Amino acid sequence: MTPRSSAAPEILSPRQILETLVSFPTVSRDTNLPLIDWVQGYLESHGVTCYRHHHPDQPKAGLWAWTGPEEEGGVVLSGHTDVVPIDGQDWSSDPFTVTERDGKLYGRGCADMKGFDALAVWALVEASRRKLSKPLHLAFTYDEEIGLLGAAPLLADALPHVPKPAVALIGEPTMLQVVSGHKAGIAFDTQVNGFEVHSSIAYKGVSAIMEAAKLVEWGNAVNAANAAKEPQGSDALFDPPWTNAHVGMISGGTAHNITAKTCNFLMSFRCVPGEDPESYARAYEAEVRRVEAEMQAIRPETSITLTRLFDAKGLAPEKDGAAEQLARQLTGDNGSHVVSYGTEAGYFQAEGLSAVVCGPGDIAQAHQPDEFITLEQFEKGEAYMRRLLDQLEA
Ligand SMILES: [Zn+2]
Repeated sequence: MTPRSSAAPEILSPRQILETLVSFPTVSRDTNLPLIDWVQGYLESHGVTCYRHHHPDQPKAGLWAWTGPEEEGGVVLSGHTDVVPIDGQDWSSDPFTVTERDGKLYGRGCADMKGFDALAVWALVEASRRKLSKPLHLAFTYDEEIGLLGAAPLLADALPHVPKPAVALIGEPTMLQVVSGHKAGIAFDTQVNGFEVHSSIAYKGVSAIMEAAKLVEWGNAVNAANAAKEPQGSDALFDPPWTNAHVGMISGGTAHNITAKTCNFLMSFRCVPGEDPESYARAYEAEVRRVEAEMQAIRPETSITLTRLFDAKGLAPEKDGAAEQLARQLTGDNGSHVVSYGTEAGYFQAEGLSAVVCGPGDIAQAHQPDEFITLEQFEKGEAYMRRLLDQLEA
């Protein structure tokens, strides 16, 4: 894809890099290795140091790359390499070929988030040609779209091998606004195993549905109590400014006159930064065990099993955070923004880096058919990278 005829390595434009990245159909369920191979080969051809993190048991990899002086500090640009599927979506052009129409670049991932990824690869190569006072890093993850699964293993594996950066810019599409906070999320698959009897003698059985309803109602009570609390600190920035419990799916039962043998539902919590998601996990589990004890008092063979589905770290707004200050300088955005969706930024913050979310493109286009980034946003993203390079220059 990058034919080289002379000794000097080829330098690609951000647009050419975007076209290449989009051409790899890195849907989360499939491999991302061809994309990682290409990025690593391109960066190494320019003398950028790369460290590859292998997925423990799937053909996927994360990539950490850096250039500049071998010292701590500096900035890491981070993006995920996976994209959501195109199944069932009606696209006007090939999703894996960048197509320009009416000032927009169409293609899966153009907004979320190969546009930023391409700019980050371009910036690393530019940085390798300048004399930097602080290193510039790149961190590419896998499996972001299936529950933010790739950032923690990449950080754990790569950080001991690289000079630790001080600031992380996670380039999810924010229209280049500086997003300094988002909620944490945790979710549980809850399987209630009841005991079937004819409903005329329901008291001798255990209806999994009616027991599940107690737990759903517990979620409603949590919400009512939290809504009545006074929001603390930066929690007040969020809408709503409190932690909320939610059941998004429920199924169970077989007939109107049989106590349900099973009921399955998903309980999730979106937690404000001022509250510990684990405290909600413990409170929910305690309530599950209380309901289970009531069930077992009637039928000892009944049970409730809990499976944790995801555990997404929140991003707490930092007071005078270095990442926020830098991103404000790069974008000129002086507002305070928090968002309702999760990102990998919280994993960088948990490792002691100052972190914000800030990238080109609009989240409204993410995951849609005919996903696009406007040329204007992509060019503004390039200007953001140029300002970053100027800041890092010695
Ligand atoms: Zn994304």
